[in-house]
Amino acid sequence: MIVEMRTGTTPEEIDGVKQRAKSLGLSVQLNLGTNKVVVAILGSNTGQLPTDIFAVLPGVENVARIMKPYKLASREFKAENSLVSINGIEIGGKRIVVMAGPCAVESEEQLVETVRAIKRSGACILRGGAFKPRTSPFSFQGLEKAGLELLARVREQFGIPVITEVVDPHDVSLVSKYADILQVGARNMQNFALLTNIGRKKCPVVLKRGFSCTITEWLTAADYLLAEGNNQVILCERGIRTFENSTRFSLDICSIPVIKRFSHLPVIVDPSHATGHYSLVPAVAKAAVAAGADGLLIEVHPNPKEALVDGLQSLTPSDFARLMEELRSIAKAVGRYI
Ligand code: PEP
Ligand code: MN
Repeated sequence: MIVEMRTGTTPEEIDGVKQRAKSLGLSVQLNLGTNKVVVAILGSNTGQLPTDIFAVLPGVENVARIMKPYKLASREFKAENSLVSINGIEIGGKRIVVMAGPCAVESEEQLVETVRAIKRSGACILRGGAFKPRTSPFSFQGLEKAGLELLARVREQFGIPVITEVVDPHDVSLVSKYADILQVGARNMQNFALLTNIGRKKCPVVLKRGFSCTITEWLTAADYLLAEGNNQVILCERGIRTFENSTRFSLDICSIPVIKRFSHLPVIVDPSHATGHYSLVPAVAKAAVAAGADGLLIEVHPNPKEALVDGLQSLTPSDFARLMEELRSIAKAVGRYI
């Protein structure tokens, strides 16, 4: 941490900063400029300390962080890429793992038709929401437990792993009985009670990026899962809020190489929620693979026109099949496969 003192600071004020650092077991390095005094605070855990502990002291103008606030998710903590394995399907390796399915579980027929189609095209994990985090309480909230049971039936029948969202910290045990991967939605990225409970379950988890959250906040949220001993964490970029309103959100394509640079965790991309429109999904999915994503989470519905949720951004099985073919050549070009 760098503590910048106010112009004209007194020796007593500088001493106050030194004493506070000493009391925390940190060392200091004093830099006496012509007009300014800058105190460097040195220690291995300064990233996890609040800047306020120095900012509140008399004579302090500003405190800047050098160390990142996240620790367990960082490449400094673990240099090699983490792999998450779901029934032998590895996420974070050479294979691009495609998870596909409807936004919401609606019926057994809908799921069966979807699984047949996505498996045929090469997707290997089924997505489907049983608990839906809806903006309005008057919108369809999902089939809840009945939806989980349908997912489990189809999982059994087709031998395909399932990812589904958990929205309530109290439902973690229930949902993890039916799902192979728990999904933390964008609206819950900083629901710390939920993250802690999922961390304790030690089951594979996809942590979506909150749409108003920085990459640093996202990785710090991942630390909540990792801190409980859950190493099976996959990040998912799904678009953030910007001033642009011609798409539902703005896909931050930069976050993929940024995550790869600063973290060891695998990262996948959801082009469906990012764009909000079926016609835009293929281009963005291909861009994600080209940028280094380890997988994709795509909404596919056998009949998008009749979908209860997110029909506009859902691909038909035939559009999905075409996209998967196109993705194979992109994957090959970047040394990956589907
Ligand atoms: C979803 O995947 O169904 C979903 C609700 O996504 P997000 O949390 O990214 O909005
Ligand atoms: Mn959706």
